[in-house]
Amino acid sequence: SSWFRNIEPAPKDPILGVTEAFLADQSPNKVNVGVVFWDDVGNPVLLPCFFWEYLPMGGSIHMVEESLKLAYGENSDLIKDKRIAAVQALSGTGACRLFAAFQQRFHPNTQIYIPVPTWANHHNIWRDAGVPIKTFRYYHPESKGLDFSGLMDDIKNAPDGSFFLLHACAHNPTGVDPSEEQWRDISSQIKAKGHFPLFDMAYQGFASGSPERDARAIRIFLDDGHLIGLAQSYAKNMGLYGQRVGCLSVLCEDVKQAVAVKSQLQLIARPMYSNPPLHGALVVSTVLGDPDLKKLWLQEVKVMADRIIGMRTTLRENLENLGSSLPWQHITNQIGMFCYSGMTPEQVDRLTSDFHIYMTRNGRISMAGLNTGNVGYVANAIYEVTK
Ligand code: PLP
Repeated sequence: SSWFRNIEPAPKDPILGVTEAFLADQSPNKVNVGVVFWDDVGNPVLLPCFFWEYLPMGGSIHMVEESLKLAYGENSDLIKDKRIAAVQALSGTGACRLFAAFQQRFHPNTQIYIPVPTWANHHNIWRDAGVPIKTFRYYHPESKGLDFSGLMDDIKNAPDGSFFLLHACAHNPTGVDPSEEQWRDISSQIKAKGHFPLFDMAYQGFASGSPERDARAIRIFLDDGHLIGLAQSYAKNMGLYGQRVGCLSVLCEDVKQAVAVKSQLQLIARPMYSNPPLHGALVVSTVLGDPDLKKLWLQEVKVMADRIIGMRTTLRENLENLGSSLPWQHITNQIGMFCYSGMTPEQVDRLTSDFHIYMTRNGRISMAGLNTGNVGYVANAIYEVTK
């Protein structure tokens, strides 16, 4: 796979590159008269009213390292061999957008295939990056499950060497994920066609309760020897929504390629936002870098996932107990934060106007918005509008 062989290292940024070079210099006599404000003994100044240094263009190296371990595996050889070009990104959205810009710059004649349906912003991201968008079949409305044969056909029929966007786990908005067996088939078909898989992983941990288990699809692709792209977000699984912290990584053939690709990602980031924000990255690296805090976080992710799973069971039981004649197994079959209920836009409108229940018109219920206090009320309302 020659996806990144033609990429040369980007020139150093004339301003931010100064601090990078300064940090790398081992001389005791080094002086930085480049960018930020230092005190009289050369330490960064922490103003009483807050002063935070700039991160490098690629963001927090510590946060990025921890993110890679979470996705590629704690003891991944790919990390040891430095084959992954990775930068901190402005949460999952920013990671996708950075990748889209990278794709547009280095593979200008390609398109991105996204699933039907998908997170609506995927359309905007690749459109604004100037990458043509194609779709592939994913959800089967009748079965409210995966359209596996449609998906496989669309992978097969796409021009060789296309980019495919895959939700790594807990697909938004449908809550429908391929099984492990199906992921294997998808991986080998993508390989056979020479496509490039980009994973969007906005909900690691929310599907199964375990971030490690939720990385399964990615690991299958890695075992098959793909080069991949990966957009990670900590908005949901660390509750860091407004901190905008995530990671974009691109697995390359070797360290030389990874250095070139990373430098080019930074070159794209520089005119967009220069460098990513510090606070959220510090939270992530602190939590993931400390064994006790990480253990606590893993427990908390499990609690969040279990709460969603519990609400699915209760919502379904309530609907069945009310005597609804419709099948509701998909509520418990689907996973992650969302339930693609199958309700029509008109039924959703009635939920809002008659029952004050608010949700998107595609019938998507955020399970996290339900709780033991309101699930009975919501079940009754759904029963009424779908009678
Ligand atoms: N990708 C998917 C599939 C999502 O559902 C979301 C959030 O809803 C995101 C990416 C990005 O979210 P954020 O930019 O807040 O990390």
